[in-house]
Amino acid sequence: MHELPITQGILEVVIQTARANRVRRVTDIYLVIGELTSIVDDSVQFYFDILSKDTLADGAKLHFRREPATATCQDCAHQWAVKPPIWPACPACKGENVRVSGGREFYVESIEVEE
Ligand SMILES: [Zn+2]
Repeated sequence: MHELPITQGILEVVIQTARANRVRRVTDIYLVIGELTSIVDDSVQFYFDILSKDTLADGAKLHFRREPATATCQDCAHQWAVKPPIWPACPACKGENVRVSGGREFYVESIEVEE
């Protein structure tokens, strides 16, 4: 369960940003999560509801956007989006020399606030 420290990190970023901009309340938080992370949306929202109590972000709704990973075949340069479990062969040439990039990001993309 690594969602707890991750959620604490999100809340810190959001509250710092809100304070710096003299925001009264944060209503929505938009997050980007890579497809290859094992982060569970519901767990993040669960921890967030507990941690954000009595803060500027109390009651804020979390929105999740999944960012796919990209696989590139080193043999034929074919590229495609992958989701776990990753099939380790190129769908175009069946080559197994495949490189996967992206899909591991996790960050706060934007927040909506009440001024
Ligand atoms: Zn290929």
